[in-house]
Amino acid sequence: MPDTQSTAALADPLLDADLHHLWHGALQHQGLAQQPPMRMEAADGCYVWDETGRRYLDAMAGLWCVNIGYGRKAVADAVYAQMQQMCFYPLTQSHAPGAALAKRVADLLPEPLNRVFFSNSGSEAVEMALKIARQAAKRMHPGQNRYKIIARHRSYHGSTFAGISAGGQHLRKQSFEPLVPGFLHVAPPDTLRCGFCGKEAACTLACADEFERMIRMEGPETVAAIIVEPAIGGGGVFPSPAGYLESLRRICDRYGVLLIFDEVITGFGRTGKLFGFQHSTAVPDLAVLAKGLTSGYLPLGATVASEAVFAAFLSDREDKQQAKFVSLSTFGGHPASCAAALANLDILLGEKLTENSAAVGAVLAEKLRAIRDPRIGQIRAVGLLAGIELVQAGTIEPLAEAEVVAIQKRVRQANVIIGRNADTVAGFGNVLTISPPLTLRVEQAGEIVDAIAGALLA
Ligand code: PLP
Repeated sequence: MPDTQSTAALADPLLDADLHHLWHGALQHQGLAQQPPMRMEAADGCYVWDETGRRYLDAMAGLWCVNIGYGRKAVADAVYAQMQQMCFYPLTQSHAPGAALAKRVADLLPEPLNRVFFSNSGSEAVEMALKIARQAAKRMHPGQNRYKIIARHRSYHGSTFAGISAGGQHLRKQSFEPLVPGFLHVAPPDTLRCGFCGKEAACTLACADEFERMIRMEGPETVAAIIVEPAIGGGGVFPSPAGYLESLRRICDRYGVLLIFDEVITGFGRTGKLFGFQHSTAVPDLAVLAKGLTSGYLPLGATVASEAVFAAFLSDREDKQQAKFVSLSTFGGHPASCAAALANLDILLGEKLTENSAAVGAVLAEKLRAIRDPRIGQIRAVGLLAGIELVQAGTIEPLAEAEVVAIQKRVRQANVIIGRNADTVAGFGNVLTISPPLTLRVEQAGEIVDAIAGALLA
């Protein structure tokens, strides 16, 4: 039996309900009564308030997602209006907010990304991308058995079976094995401990060449796609080095392999460009969107395909039933979620929050880099996405996880919520993460940095 009894729980019926009935993801319930999760009850702008009225600066935007900040009435109004007009209809047929949002998203992305398939979350949107890629690859290369997907260690692509199979974080996989066959992994660009060109004068992008090596070793006629986050987020914030994504694009073109960019975190302004891949000239065949698409006001995911990928599913011949993309979702592209996304995009674009992300992100990075502490091994930052890799002083050995957790807790005691790359790769849970609402102001960036600097000093 979990030890759910505590004096506090008895005095607080919601805490009691939580401890007895709610199953939290990624939390050990044994002992939870002694250290219950924070219960947030209100939110506005970059701040959240717990049930005691204590205010925190939410430098994780919930879970990397509340890009426009909390408390936007315009989004709530749009959802309310849609719920009154028509609460639900599936996208096996059509509805106005779904069609309008598909066009809006396609217009925001460069050519040839043009076809939008809606789902309910980032994980599902990844799942759709992987299914689309496998089916498209088979249809684009008749007679070949293209099913393998190449991804990277340390990356995260969601919590479903295919998502954790694509992901490169063994701590999220090992309890659920065996996983989906056909997923292969290469090393990510880790400039702190690069095993490829770390000793050269400059980056040679040898880690990108690993994809080509893998394709050749496996046989190109077996490989369907490559999937990467333009900047690894939850795995510890690893932005792509200059030229890396272009290199992947060239490799994919050379071998007829589809390129998937998982933009679930990096999309919608997070990195200081509207989409993370726009730091490069590379355009993927499939883009995966969620989080900032609605800023978390309602759940929604989207998988956007190029016209060439979409065309592979068209047929007026006898194979037309098998040619189409057979994948159903009751709630995917829910009208209220699409209405929320449209209102969210009005705010994100109208208030130039991508530009704010670039400008305030640069200040945040500069202030973080000014902290003097020998345990800071590397600060990796792009827009309002930052990771602080903590190491044992004078080495590149990760700082012990207990110490990193203690630092993160002290930041919270200073009323600032930051994240950590927990449950990813054993021994490497040593990166503090920052991903605040894109409305963050310079003085709030200062609040975050002061809390972190104070926590490191203590
Ligand atoms: N892909 C990436 C890059 C993510 O960071 C996440 C979630 O953090 C997902 C996919 C899965 O999204 P969701 O949690 O909405 O299923």
